Amino acid sequence: MRGVEGYLESSAMGVFIGHVIGNKLTKKKQLTIPPANTSLGCLARYCIYGEAKKFTPMNIHWGLFNQLSKEDINKYSTHPEQVLKMKKIDKSVKRELMACRSEDLFQQWYKSEFGE
Ligand SMILES: Cc1cc2nc3c(=O)[nH]c(=O)nc-3n(C[C@H](O)[C@H](O)[C@H](O)COP(=O)(O)OP(=O)(O)OC[C@H]3O[C@@H](n4cnc5c(N)ncnc54)[C@H](O)[C@@H]3O)c2cc1C
Repeated sequence: MRGVEGYLESSAMGVFIGHVIGNKLTKKKQLTIPPANTSLGCLARYCIYGEAKKFTPMNIHWGLFNQLSKEDINKYSTHPEQVLKMKKIDKSVKRELMACRSEDLFQQWYKSEFGE
């Protein structure tokens, strides 16, 4: 029903949709979708913009996130010059940086939507 697969994803999407409907009914401001490079944002975008013909409920996975940009590496790495020098960024480093980006973006979104 929610277009996602898995208990955690279904619960997260359910809570988010609940907030959207609640805000609409109480005429508070319309909630925005969380940023693209957060788990909830990736899943919501996949449900809204995913190709209808091929659509299948999805768990969260790294393939739904955008690759790291140079700016992301500079912002989230403690040693950006070393990471930028790598021919291919080590998978664990890449995932750690993507997780930092996701956490940062989600916190910014949460603050702007719900306040402190
Ligand atoms: C056997 C099995 C094992 C699983 N194990 C795991 C696991 O270990 N870990 C994990 O993360 N995920 C697991 N999942 C997946 C998880 O259960 C689903 O991803 C999750 O339940 C999906 O939630 P949902 O709310 O989107 O859909 P559902 O839980 O399917 O809820 C949809 C609801 O809508 C109702 N409904 C449907 N059509 C209508 C209609 N026309 N009008 C009114 N109501 C309607 C249905 O009756 C149902 O209550 C498992 C799934 C199965 C089948």
